[in-house]
Amino acid sequence: MRMCSIASGSSGNCIYVGSDDTHLLVDAGISKKRIEAGLEKLEIKGDELDGILVTHEHSDHIQGLGVFSRKYGVPIYATPGTIEGIKSSSSLGKLPDGILHPITVDEKFTLGDITVDPFAISHDANEPSGYRMECGGKAAAVATDLGIYNDYIVKKLENLDAVLLEANHDVHMLEVGGYPYHLKRRILGDRGHLSNELSGRLLCDILHDNLKHIVLGHLSKENNYAKLAYETVKLEVTLGDNPYKGEELNMQVANRDSVSEILMF
Ligand SMILES: [Zn+2]
Ligand SMILES: [Zn+2]
Repeated sequence: MRMCSIASGSSGNCIYVGSDDTHLLVDAGISKKRIEAGLEKLEIKGDELDGILVTHEHSDHIQGLGVFSRKYGVPIYATPGTIEGIKSSSSLGKLPDGILHPITVDEKFTLGDITVDPFAISHDANEPSGYRMECGGKAAAVATDLGIYNDYIVKKLENLDAVLLEANHDVHMLEVGGYPYHLKRRILGDRGHLSNELSGRLLCDILHDNLKHIVLGHLSKENNYAKLAYETVKLEVTLGDNPYKGEELNMQVANRDSVSEILMF
């Protein structure tokens, strides 16, 4: 399998996950042009995509969905609640008929040779979901926009080879920063975003010897920066009750503005 972050951050998200034969995007929250540029690096054309899996209807996850799907007609998969949200998002324009396919969390489905396992996440959207994808004994997951995590999430992220994991904010930067109070409450709440610390703790729970690629993503532009997210998560792993040391991890931080390296596993 391969995974590549085309863009990840509070301003726009689009992650590629694929096999030799099947090519998927998780979210299309950046412009068509930027999605195309990312796919070009992967040597894939827009019309070769087999599906776009949408996590939820917030604009940083669907911004480019209208323009991109009108051009390439790639099928879109999302929960009924997210589809509702996509349809009522006027900025997207009209989507091609029959392009939206409802899925159910915890019900696996197959696209080409990839098995997709959508899981429920705690976030302030209609019916948000994360995605685990498996092919030929390998597994990857995209887990962002998590207000909290629990045993259910840990189970969904077990035995992965690669993960794109949210490390949204530094709690102290958020607390002293310029965001209005209600927004701070929202981000810190159970249906908001995962802090760097919680991201590190979740990682401790899912670490195993074969988790070879860890990508921290969905960083807040105002309340986080790459080095801080990286060091905080690393420290949590080192201090955590597990046999791993933070510096041994193959971990990187996804960039909001540029395409990541292509991870192979
Ligand atoms: Zn969101
Ligand atoms: Zn988001």
